[in-house]
Amino acid sequence: MPIMILGKEKVPQFVEGLLRDYQVIGPRKKDGFYLFGPVSKPEEIALEYPIALYPPRKFFLPAKEPVLRFRLGEKPEVEPVVEPPTPKVLFGLHPCDLHSTRLLDAAFLKENPDANYETRRRNAIFVGIDCLAPCDEYAFCKDMGTLDPKGYYDLFLTDLGEAYAVEIGSGRGEELLRKYSAAREATKAEQSKLEEVRKDRDKNFPSRLKFDASKLPEILWSRFNSPYWGELAKRCMGCGSCTLVCSTCYCHDVLDRVELNLTEGERIRVWDSCLLDEFAKVAGGLNFRPSLEQRLRHRFYRKGKYLWDLLGLPGCVGCGRCTRHCLAKINPIEVFNDVYQEYSQA
Ligand code: SF4
Ligand code: SF4
Repeated sequence: MPIMILGKEKVPQFVEGLLRDYQVIGPRKKDGFYLFGPVSKPEEIALEYPIALYPPRKFFLPAKEPVLRFRLGEKPEVEPVVEPPTPKVLFGLHPCDLHSTRLLDAAFLKENPDANYETRRRNAIFVGIDCLAPCDEYAFCKDMGTLDPKGYYDLFLTDLGEAYAVEIGSGRGEELLRKYSAAREATKAEQSKLEEVRKDRDKNFPSRLKFDASKLPEILWSRFNSPYWGELAKRCMGCGSCTLVCSTCYCHDVLDRVELNLTEGERIRVWDSCLLDEFAKVAGGLNFRPSLEQRLRHRFYRKGKYLWDLLGLPGCVGCGRCTRHCLAKINPIEVFNDVYQEYSQA
């Protein structure tokens, strides 16, 4: 696919075109923070934002949603609840957020597709935007291999100064660009400029992980019984904020709500957190991860080993949201490096 060029002054016209046929979700500034949300006019999108407070996963997995309704009686009825699709364009996703959706796709679309997720995801188009510098000191996307979006977008913008270079990742993206924008093909000079910008970008991101991220599952597994986890847990408050804001956490609780007539009700799923005490409590009151040490260790193994083993993708995209929101400033990059230190000395 040719690389296209879209002048910055033409972006509002592009967004206006999209708004005619799609719900457009973009980063918006509110009270000094950036949040993804629906926009009604182009100027609401703050395209040059550092990072959004919350990841885009809520647009595919809401915090709370009914998944089926049931009615008891002579002929019991059960019907799935799948809301009608709203075609959406998520405009201005950073590479880490594109990668986190890639992981959610692997979890929710492959072996046992989830109808609610699938409906939303099939109706969502991604317009990504390159990060030319780290959003802050907590980001470590380059270490996790998620700075490069690796084609996981419909369109992808890179800031070349006066204009954006636009890479096309799908037929849907190409159609969007041709239908709603005044983009043109890049000249040779503009293509070279894009390469230069990418080289400079890579230099702007320091390498913070002391080893290759692909070794993480092996390194973590070798330190499963380390006293390190107990020490780390002394700092943790078990509040669950880190999982609430995480781009890749998708664990849910499933609850049945029965009406007062005791014949009707619905099954809902709500976000849950493996850091919370109740998470691993099962029938009979047994808790299979009763200590905070076990729960905190589980969180890091989920990010650095279990999801990698299961889906073939890193369970952490290095967005740094967990550390930004953690009162104890427990930081995955430090944890991974500490565990590596032990591993290399064992
Ligand atoms: S946000 Fe920090 S303190 Fe709270 S559960 Fe997560 S790691 Fe522990
Ligand atoms: S563990 Fe932290 S850095 Fe990794 S994806 Fe989740 S929020 Fe981002």
